[in-house]
Amino acid sequence: MTMPPIHNEMNSETYRMAVHQLDLAAERLGLEPGVHERLRLPKRCLMVSVPVLMDNGDTDVFTGYRVQHNFVLGPGKGGLRYHPDVTLGDVSALAMWMSWKCAIVGLPFGGAKGGICCDPARMSSAELERMTRRYTQEILLGIGPQVDILAPDMNTNEETMAWIMDTYSMQVGYTVPGVVTGKPIVIGGSMGRREATGRGVVYCIQDACRLFDLSLQGASVVVQGFGNVGSVTASLLHELGARIIAVSDVRGGVYHEDGLNIPKLLEHQQRTKMVPGFPDALPITNADLLALPCEILVPAALERQITRANAGKITCRILAEGANGPTTPDADALLRDRGVFVIPDILCNAGGVTVSYFEWVQDLQNYFWTETQINRRLKQVMTKAFREVRQLAQREQVDMRTAALMLGVGKVAEGMIKRGLFP
Ligand code: NAD
Repeated sequence: MTMPPIHNEMNSETYRMAVHQLDLAAERLGLEPGVHERLRLPKRCLMVSVPVLMDNGDTDVFTGYRVQHNFVLGPGKGGLRYHPDVTLGDVSALAMWMSWKCAIVGLPFGGAKGGICCDPARMSSAELERMTRRYTQEILLGIGPQVDILAPDMNTNEETMAWIMDTYSMQVGYTVPGVVTGKPIVIGGSMGRREATGRGVVYCIQDACRLFDLSLQGASVVVQGFGNVGSVTASLLHELGARIIAVSDVRGGVYHEDGLNIPKLLEHQQRTKMVPGFPDALPITNADLLALPCEILVPAALERQITRANAGKITCRILAEGANGPTTPDADALLRDRGVFVIPDILCNAGGVTVSYFEWVQDLQNYFWTETQINRRLKQVMTKAFREVRQLAQREQVDMRTAALMLGVGKVAEGMIKRGLFP
């Protein structure tokens, strides 16, 4: 059966990519066309205008989105992104990937995602706070601990989550920590949440290394993006004895073939707010960085960084997708031919949403766990998910991405079929 074309409003390259992946999994799974078609579109998209009083006295109006892809397995869960390129299509793709991701790691959540089209680098903290609070107010009816729970993503952090939680709590009249995860510990955040995505990436890399008898000791690693996910991944791998030969941020990268001193690089980044300019290293562009010969490559920045144009130059053994959607389907095929082992985003970066789930559970029961407990449970979840995806890949003779999609899409589809179609 031919599926209807993608709605104009969400027809971005990233959304087409997410739908292409879904179609592939649906075909492999022999999914019922009615279920398949429902999964191609989000359940609900909210688009809001967010007027903000700027520091200079002007009123600027930003566009915000909250997309809820599928709630069959539980309330919506997904990050909030601030970026000048945010579109409805991209947010919808990210929401769809959240559905598969939550299902792969067995969380009782559906997929959601939010974004505001803005340039946070050009806004003051006061402007960001007013924008965040107004956005929260505009989407208030559609969120909540049993409805849809937000978390940090690109250019949002603990402070952003605290503003959302406070705004939501002020509106309903009592404190509701469970409306967001990734908030400060003192107001109901979880130990280990900030590091969780990077830690999960590292657990996956360790599992992959075991498959290939590759020792992390001295292994060469390249990391694109040095924010929450990239910097934690680089730090933990550095602690495990890997050689982080290059890292980058949006401004460019630094390279040293013997390995960068990551603690010193973090200090440099905190001081100068950027990666370039780090002494004792050579400058490198983001394009050259991706093509560096290495054992492990970790894209941890934006979508569609590895494409048909550069996949032929990628020489790593393991590609660990810290970012969401860093590899296009064209590139996937080329990487497969080159024997690159891809740990797909919906598995590799699921550590963040897993500890978000732990945070939500702790908030609901008002009882908090230790960091050791969190990390142990995170490891159990990630290792089990990695094993399940790997086993499915072997059984079905498919690559890890196809297997992960089959697992995630399959579980959501099964939930839909079991629940039936309302009314
Ligand atoms: P962040 O804002 O903390 O960091 C992003 C980093 O990428 C920064 O260093 C930034 O300078 C860099 N960057 C931005 N544009 C770039 C470009 N064009 N080239 C190179 N570097 C660029 O964001 P984050 O939370 O670390 O998220 C990074 C990726 O990981 C995103 O794809 C996000 O969706 C995904 N992710 C994040 C989490 C989480 O818990 N934060 C969880 C799962 C997935």
